[in-house]
Formats: sequence, C-alpha cells, structure tokens
Amino acid sequence: MKDRIELFDTTLRDGTQGEGISLSVQDKLMIAHKLDEFGIDVIEGGWPGSNPKDEEFFRSVKKLNLFHAQICAFGSTARSLKNIENDPNLQALLNAETPVVSIFGKTWRLHSQKGLGISDEENEELIFKSVEFLKRNGKRVIYDSEHFFDGFKDDKNFALRMLKAAEKAGADVIVLCDTNGGTMPHEVFDIIIELKSTILRTIGIHTHNDSELAVANSIAAIQAGAIHVQGTMNGVGERCGNANLCSIIPNIILKLNKKTKQEINLEHLTSVSHFVYELMNLAPNTRAAYVGKSAFAHKGGIHVSAVLKDSRMYEHIDPEKVGNKQRVLISDLSGQSNIRYKAKELGIDLSDKKELSKKVVNYIKMLEYGGFQFDGAEASFELLLNGETNEFSPYFRVLDSKIHVFFDADGHSKAEAVLKIEVDGEIEHTASDGNGPVNALDNALRKALLRFYPEISLIKLVDYKVRVLDEKEGTNAKVRVMIESSDGNDTWSTVGVSENIIEASFQALSDSINYKLFKYQKRNKKQTV
Ligand SMILES: [Zn+2]
Repeated sequence: MKDRIELFDTTLRDGTQGEGISLSVQDKLMIAHKLDEFGIDVIEGGWPGSNPKDEEFFRSVKKLNLFHAQICAFGSTARSLKNIENDPNLQALLNAETPVVSIFGKTWRLHSQKGLGISDEENEELIFKSVEFLKRNGKRVIYDSEHFFDGFKDDKNFALRMLKAAEKAGADVIVLCDTNGGTMPHEVFDIIIELKSTILRTIGIHTHNDSELAVANSIAAIQAGAIHVQGTMNGVGERCGNANLCSIIPNIILKLNKKTKQEINLEHLTSVSHFVYELMNLAPNTRAAYVGKSAFAHKGGIHVSAVLKDSRMYEHIDPEKVGNKQRVLISDLSGQSNIRYKAKELGIDLSDKKELSKKVVNYIKMLEYGGFQFDGAEASFELLLNGETNEFSPYFRVLDSKIHVFFDADGHSKAEAVLKIEVDGEIEHTASDGNGPVNALDNALRKALLRFYPEISLIKLVDYKVRVLDEKEGTNAKVRVMIESSDGNDTWSTVGVSENIIEASFQALSDSINYKLFKYQKRNKKQTV
C-alpha cells in the first residue's frame, strides 16, 4: 500500500489556466464525477479565493456523491506574517470546506526576493505558519513547492530550507514543481535521489510541458521515489500545458508495473479523455499517445499486413487495454491488406476476391492522386467499396441544377438553388435559398429528397472543411471538401474534390446523404430478416 502511486488531477484548476479553456460550474461538476468514477484519488477543483465560479463549485461539489476521490482547494501561503489567523488566502481555503488543501510557496530565491520582496527568514516563516495553520484546522495539506527545480539549481540551501519548513509544519505531501517546464528528466531524477535523505515526507511531482518533457519528468520522479503525481487530462494547462495524466497513468500501470492507490478503470481512459475534450469544446488531439484516434492507426501496406498477422509487430500495447482500438487507414500507401481489413470491418469478405481488391487499391490510388483523401472520409470509402461489390447504388440522380448568387448594395450575398432530381423514375423539382451557394444547394437537396426519404431530416452538418490542393493555381486550384455529418447517434465523414468548390461540396453532401440512407436500409433489412 505504501508504494502505491497517488493520482492528483488538476484539470479543473491548472488545466483551466490554459489558453482557450473555460468550464462552467456544471462542466466542472461533471468532470469531477467522471474522474472519481475513473479512479482518481484527489481532484483539485479550483482556487476559491480567486473567482466566484470556483467558490460556487466548492459549494456544489459537496452534494456530489463521490465514490472515492477527495476534493482539494488550491491557494497560496498567507500574504503577510502579521495576521495569519485572518489571512484572506487561508480563510478562502478553509471556507471551501474540502478535506484536502494544496498551497504553494516560493522556493526560488529570485521569486521571494524580487517577486515578494521579503527576506529568506520571512519566506520560511510564511510557509511554516501557513501549513501549520491549515494542519491545525484539520486539513490534509499538500504543499506545492513552486519553481522547486529552478530554485534548487540556483541555491540549493535556500530551496531545501523552504521544503524543510513545510515538512516541519506537518505538510502531508511535499510536491516538487517544475513550474516553468524547463527541467530535464535526468535532473529531476538526480535531484529527487539527493533529496531523499533530507525530506522524509511523501514526495510528489508537478510538471509543465514547456520542453515537451512533462510526462518524462513525472516518470523520472516516480522512478526516483515520488509516489504522488499531479497532472491534467489531455495535458491541458498554462502555456504548453501540464503533465498529461492520459499518458502518465497507462505508463505507471502498463510500463512501470506499479499500482495506483485506487484501482484505475484503465479501459475507460480513452472515453474519459474524450469526455473532457467534449466539455472543454476542444477537438481531440488525434495523435495523442494511448488515447488519440491515430494512436493505433496503420496506414503503410507493410505495417498493415504485419499487424494482421500479429498486432505486436507495430503496436506497443493492446489498444483495448486503454479503451482505444486498432484502425487501418485507406490511402494511396495502402496495399491489398488494408482494403481487405477494412472490408472485413465493414462486413464484406474479400478474402477470395483478389482481383477485386487489387482493382479497388488501384482505383483508390488514382483517386488519391487526384486529390481525394479517404483516411479522413471513411463513409465515402465505404460507399465506394460497396459500389464495387454492387451492394450500393446511389439513391437519387441529379438531372439538372442551377445556382444564383446575388449581392446587394452592401455586399451581402444571398443564394438560391434550383434542383431537379430523380428517385426511382419519379422527378422532383425544388428550389431553396441559403446564406451561400453551398448552403442553398444543401437545403434544396434535402427538400427534394425528404418526400422519398424522411429519415434524412435527422442529418446535421457538423463540420465543413475546404482545403486548396494546388495553391499556385490561385482561384483555378483544385479544392478538397471534407464534411462531417451526424444524425445524433452516429457521425460520418465524406469527401469531394473538384476545381469547383460547389461541385466538390455537392459530391461530399451527396455521399453524406447516400451513406445515411445506405446504413438505414441495411439496418432495416437486418431487422426484417
Ligand atoms: Zn502548474
């Protein structure tokens, strides 16, 4: 039990200090709940003295029925030695009514002398008295030694003296912070080894990612004997971010073979990561280790054929252990194994159809050469493959279309699309307007098809991306349009390429609707059989 690693999450405090990140009180409560379920030990909820939102969080979180995690409030040491008992920083911490508090103090002489303008003795006393006050009030105290590594390198004696003050006052955990994120892993390791004869309390680590080493530094600290580790989900945080718990946790469990204090539901890791991204309104980092969409995605033909024989050849762990999954991508690098794997995933058996899979590979290579990209548009690929095996043919045909764009005197544009389509020999003629030509076309197409296929009313456009493929051509250049659609349950991506942006958009829109209808029909067929 003694050597089990304690996990301290500061997504809700340090994480929200990251650029572009904002969470409502309700978001914070939902994340706290999720982290508790996941198995995090301590959740730092915010800085109660700093803003009303955090104060409200601490009021509301008490009503949350947490299974295991303890909530922690963050703050600084007292402002002055004069009236510790009534210091506003410390009072705010007590008012948060959490079982755990974390406070930070200055450990780098540069900060205490230049920043605060106080003597060594005063700084030492501020740390001692603040920790001692919180201990006296029954709190578990986590002492964050701000800028510890920089302070230690600058003036070892000063830094150690400040740590000893916190330890003597009864701090339960002494956290060594690489606040500026500039320390190297070997320094973290060596310094903690050196420290172990002086500091007898539990040692913790808090790192930032300014040298892209926050995870490596946390692991180095654990190797040297730290048993409390702080970080954020997805590594969000000030500047380049905090140490990423989504990488640290699987590294602790799967690579260092160490136990965490509470059993972690590691197979929930990917979904917890996505949940946090979702609430922060951030697009997930597809290349993130362990939890990224691409973390176990194989594109090169040689890789794919090896992975199909034995996934260990190109995967460092079984993706299911962290709740992720293996993916095989389709691109002009693909060989036949990619196509067969993908087909199998889609329920199409190509194992005895070598000629067909060769034909599909060549066709895809040709399309990708022309600017298509299928590894981001799996729905278009699925239609193409099913088209080749005669499982799919388009649900409608466009006979004629016209688009008008008008500009008024202020330069505001308005567009109108007129469309003639055919479904099973029946003709439908519609017109619709929109705030631009693509929007007008999209509206007209839906309006025309709704009578035949009411299920398309659920489709929503989630994302629309245009990429110019050969920039030198200027306005004549080819463009690729990628569309992400959703029906509330599933999301799917489609692609179109043309020199004409409207045509490229229309291809992607048509694929999106065809895909939905294809899936819908397939599902219904299955139910009636
Ligand atoms: Zn920090």
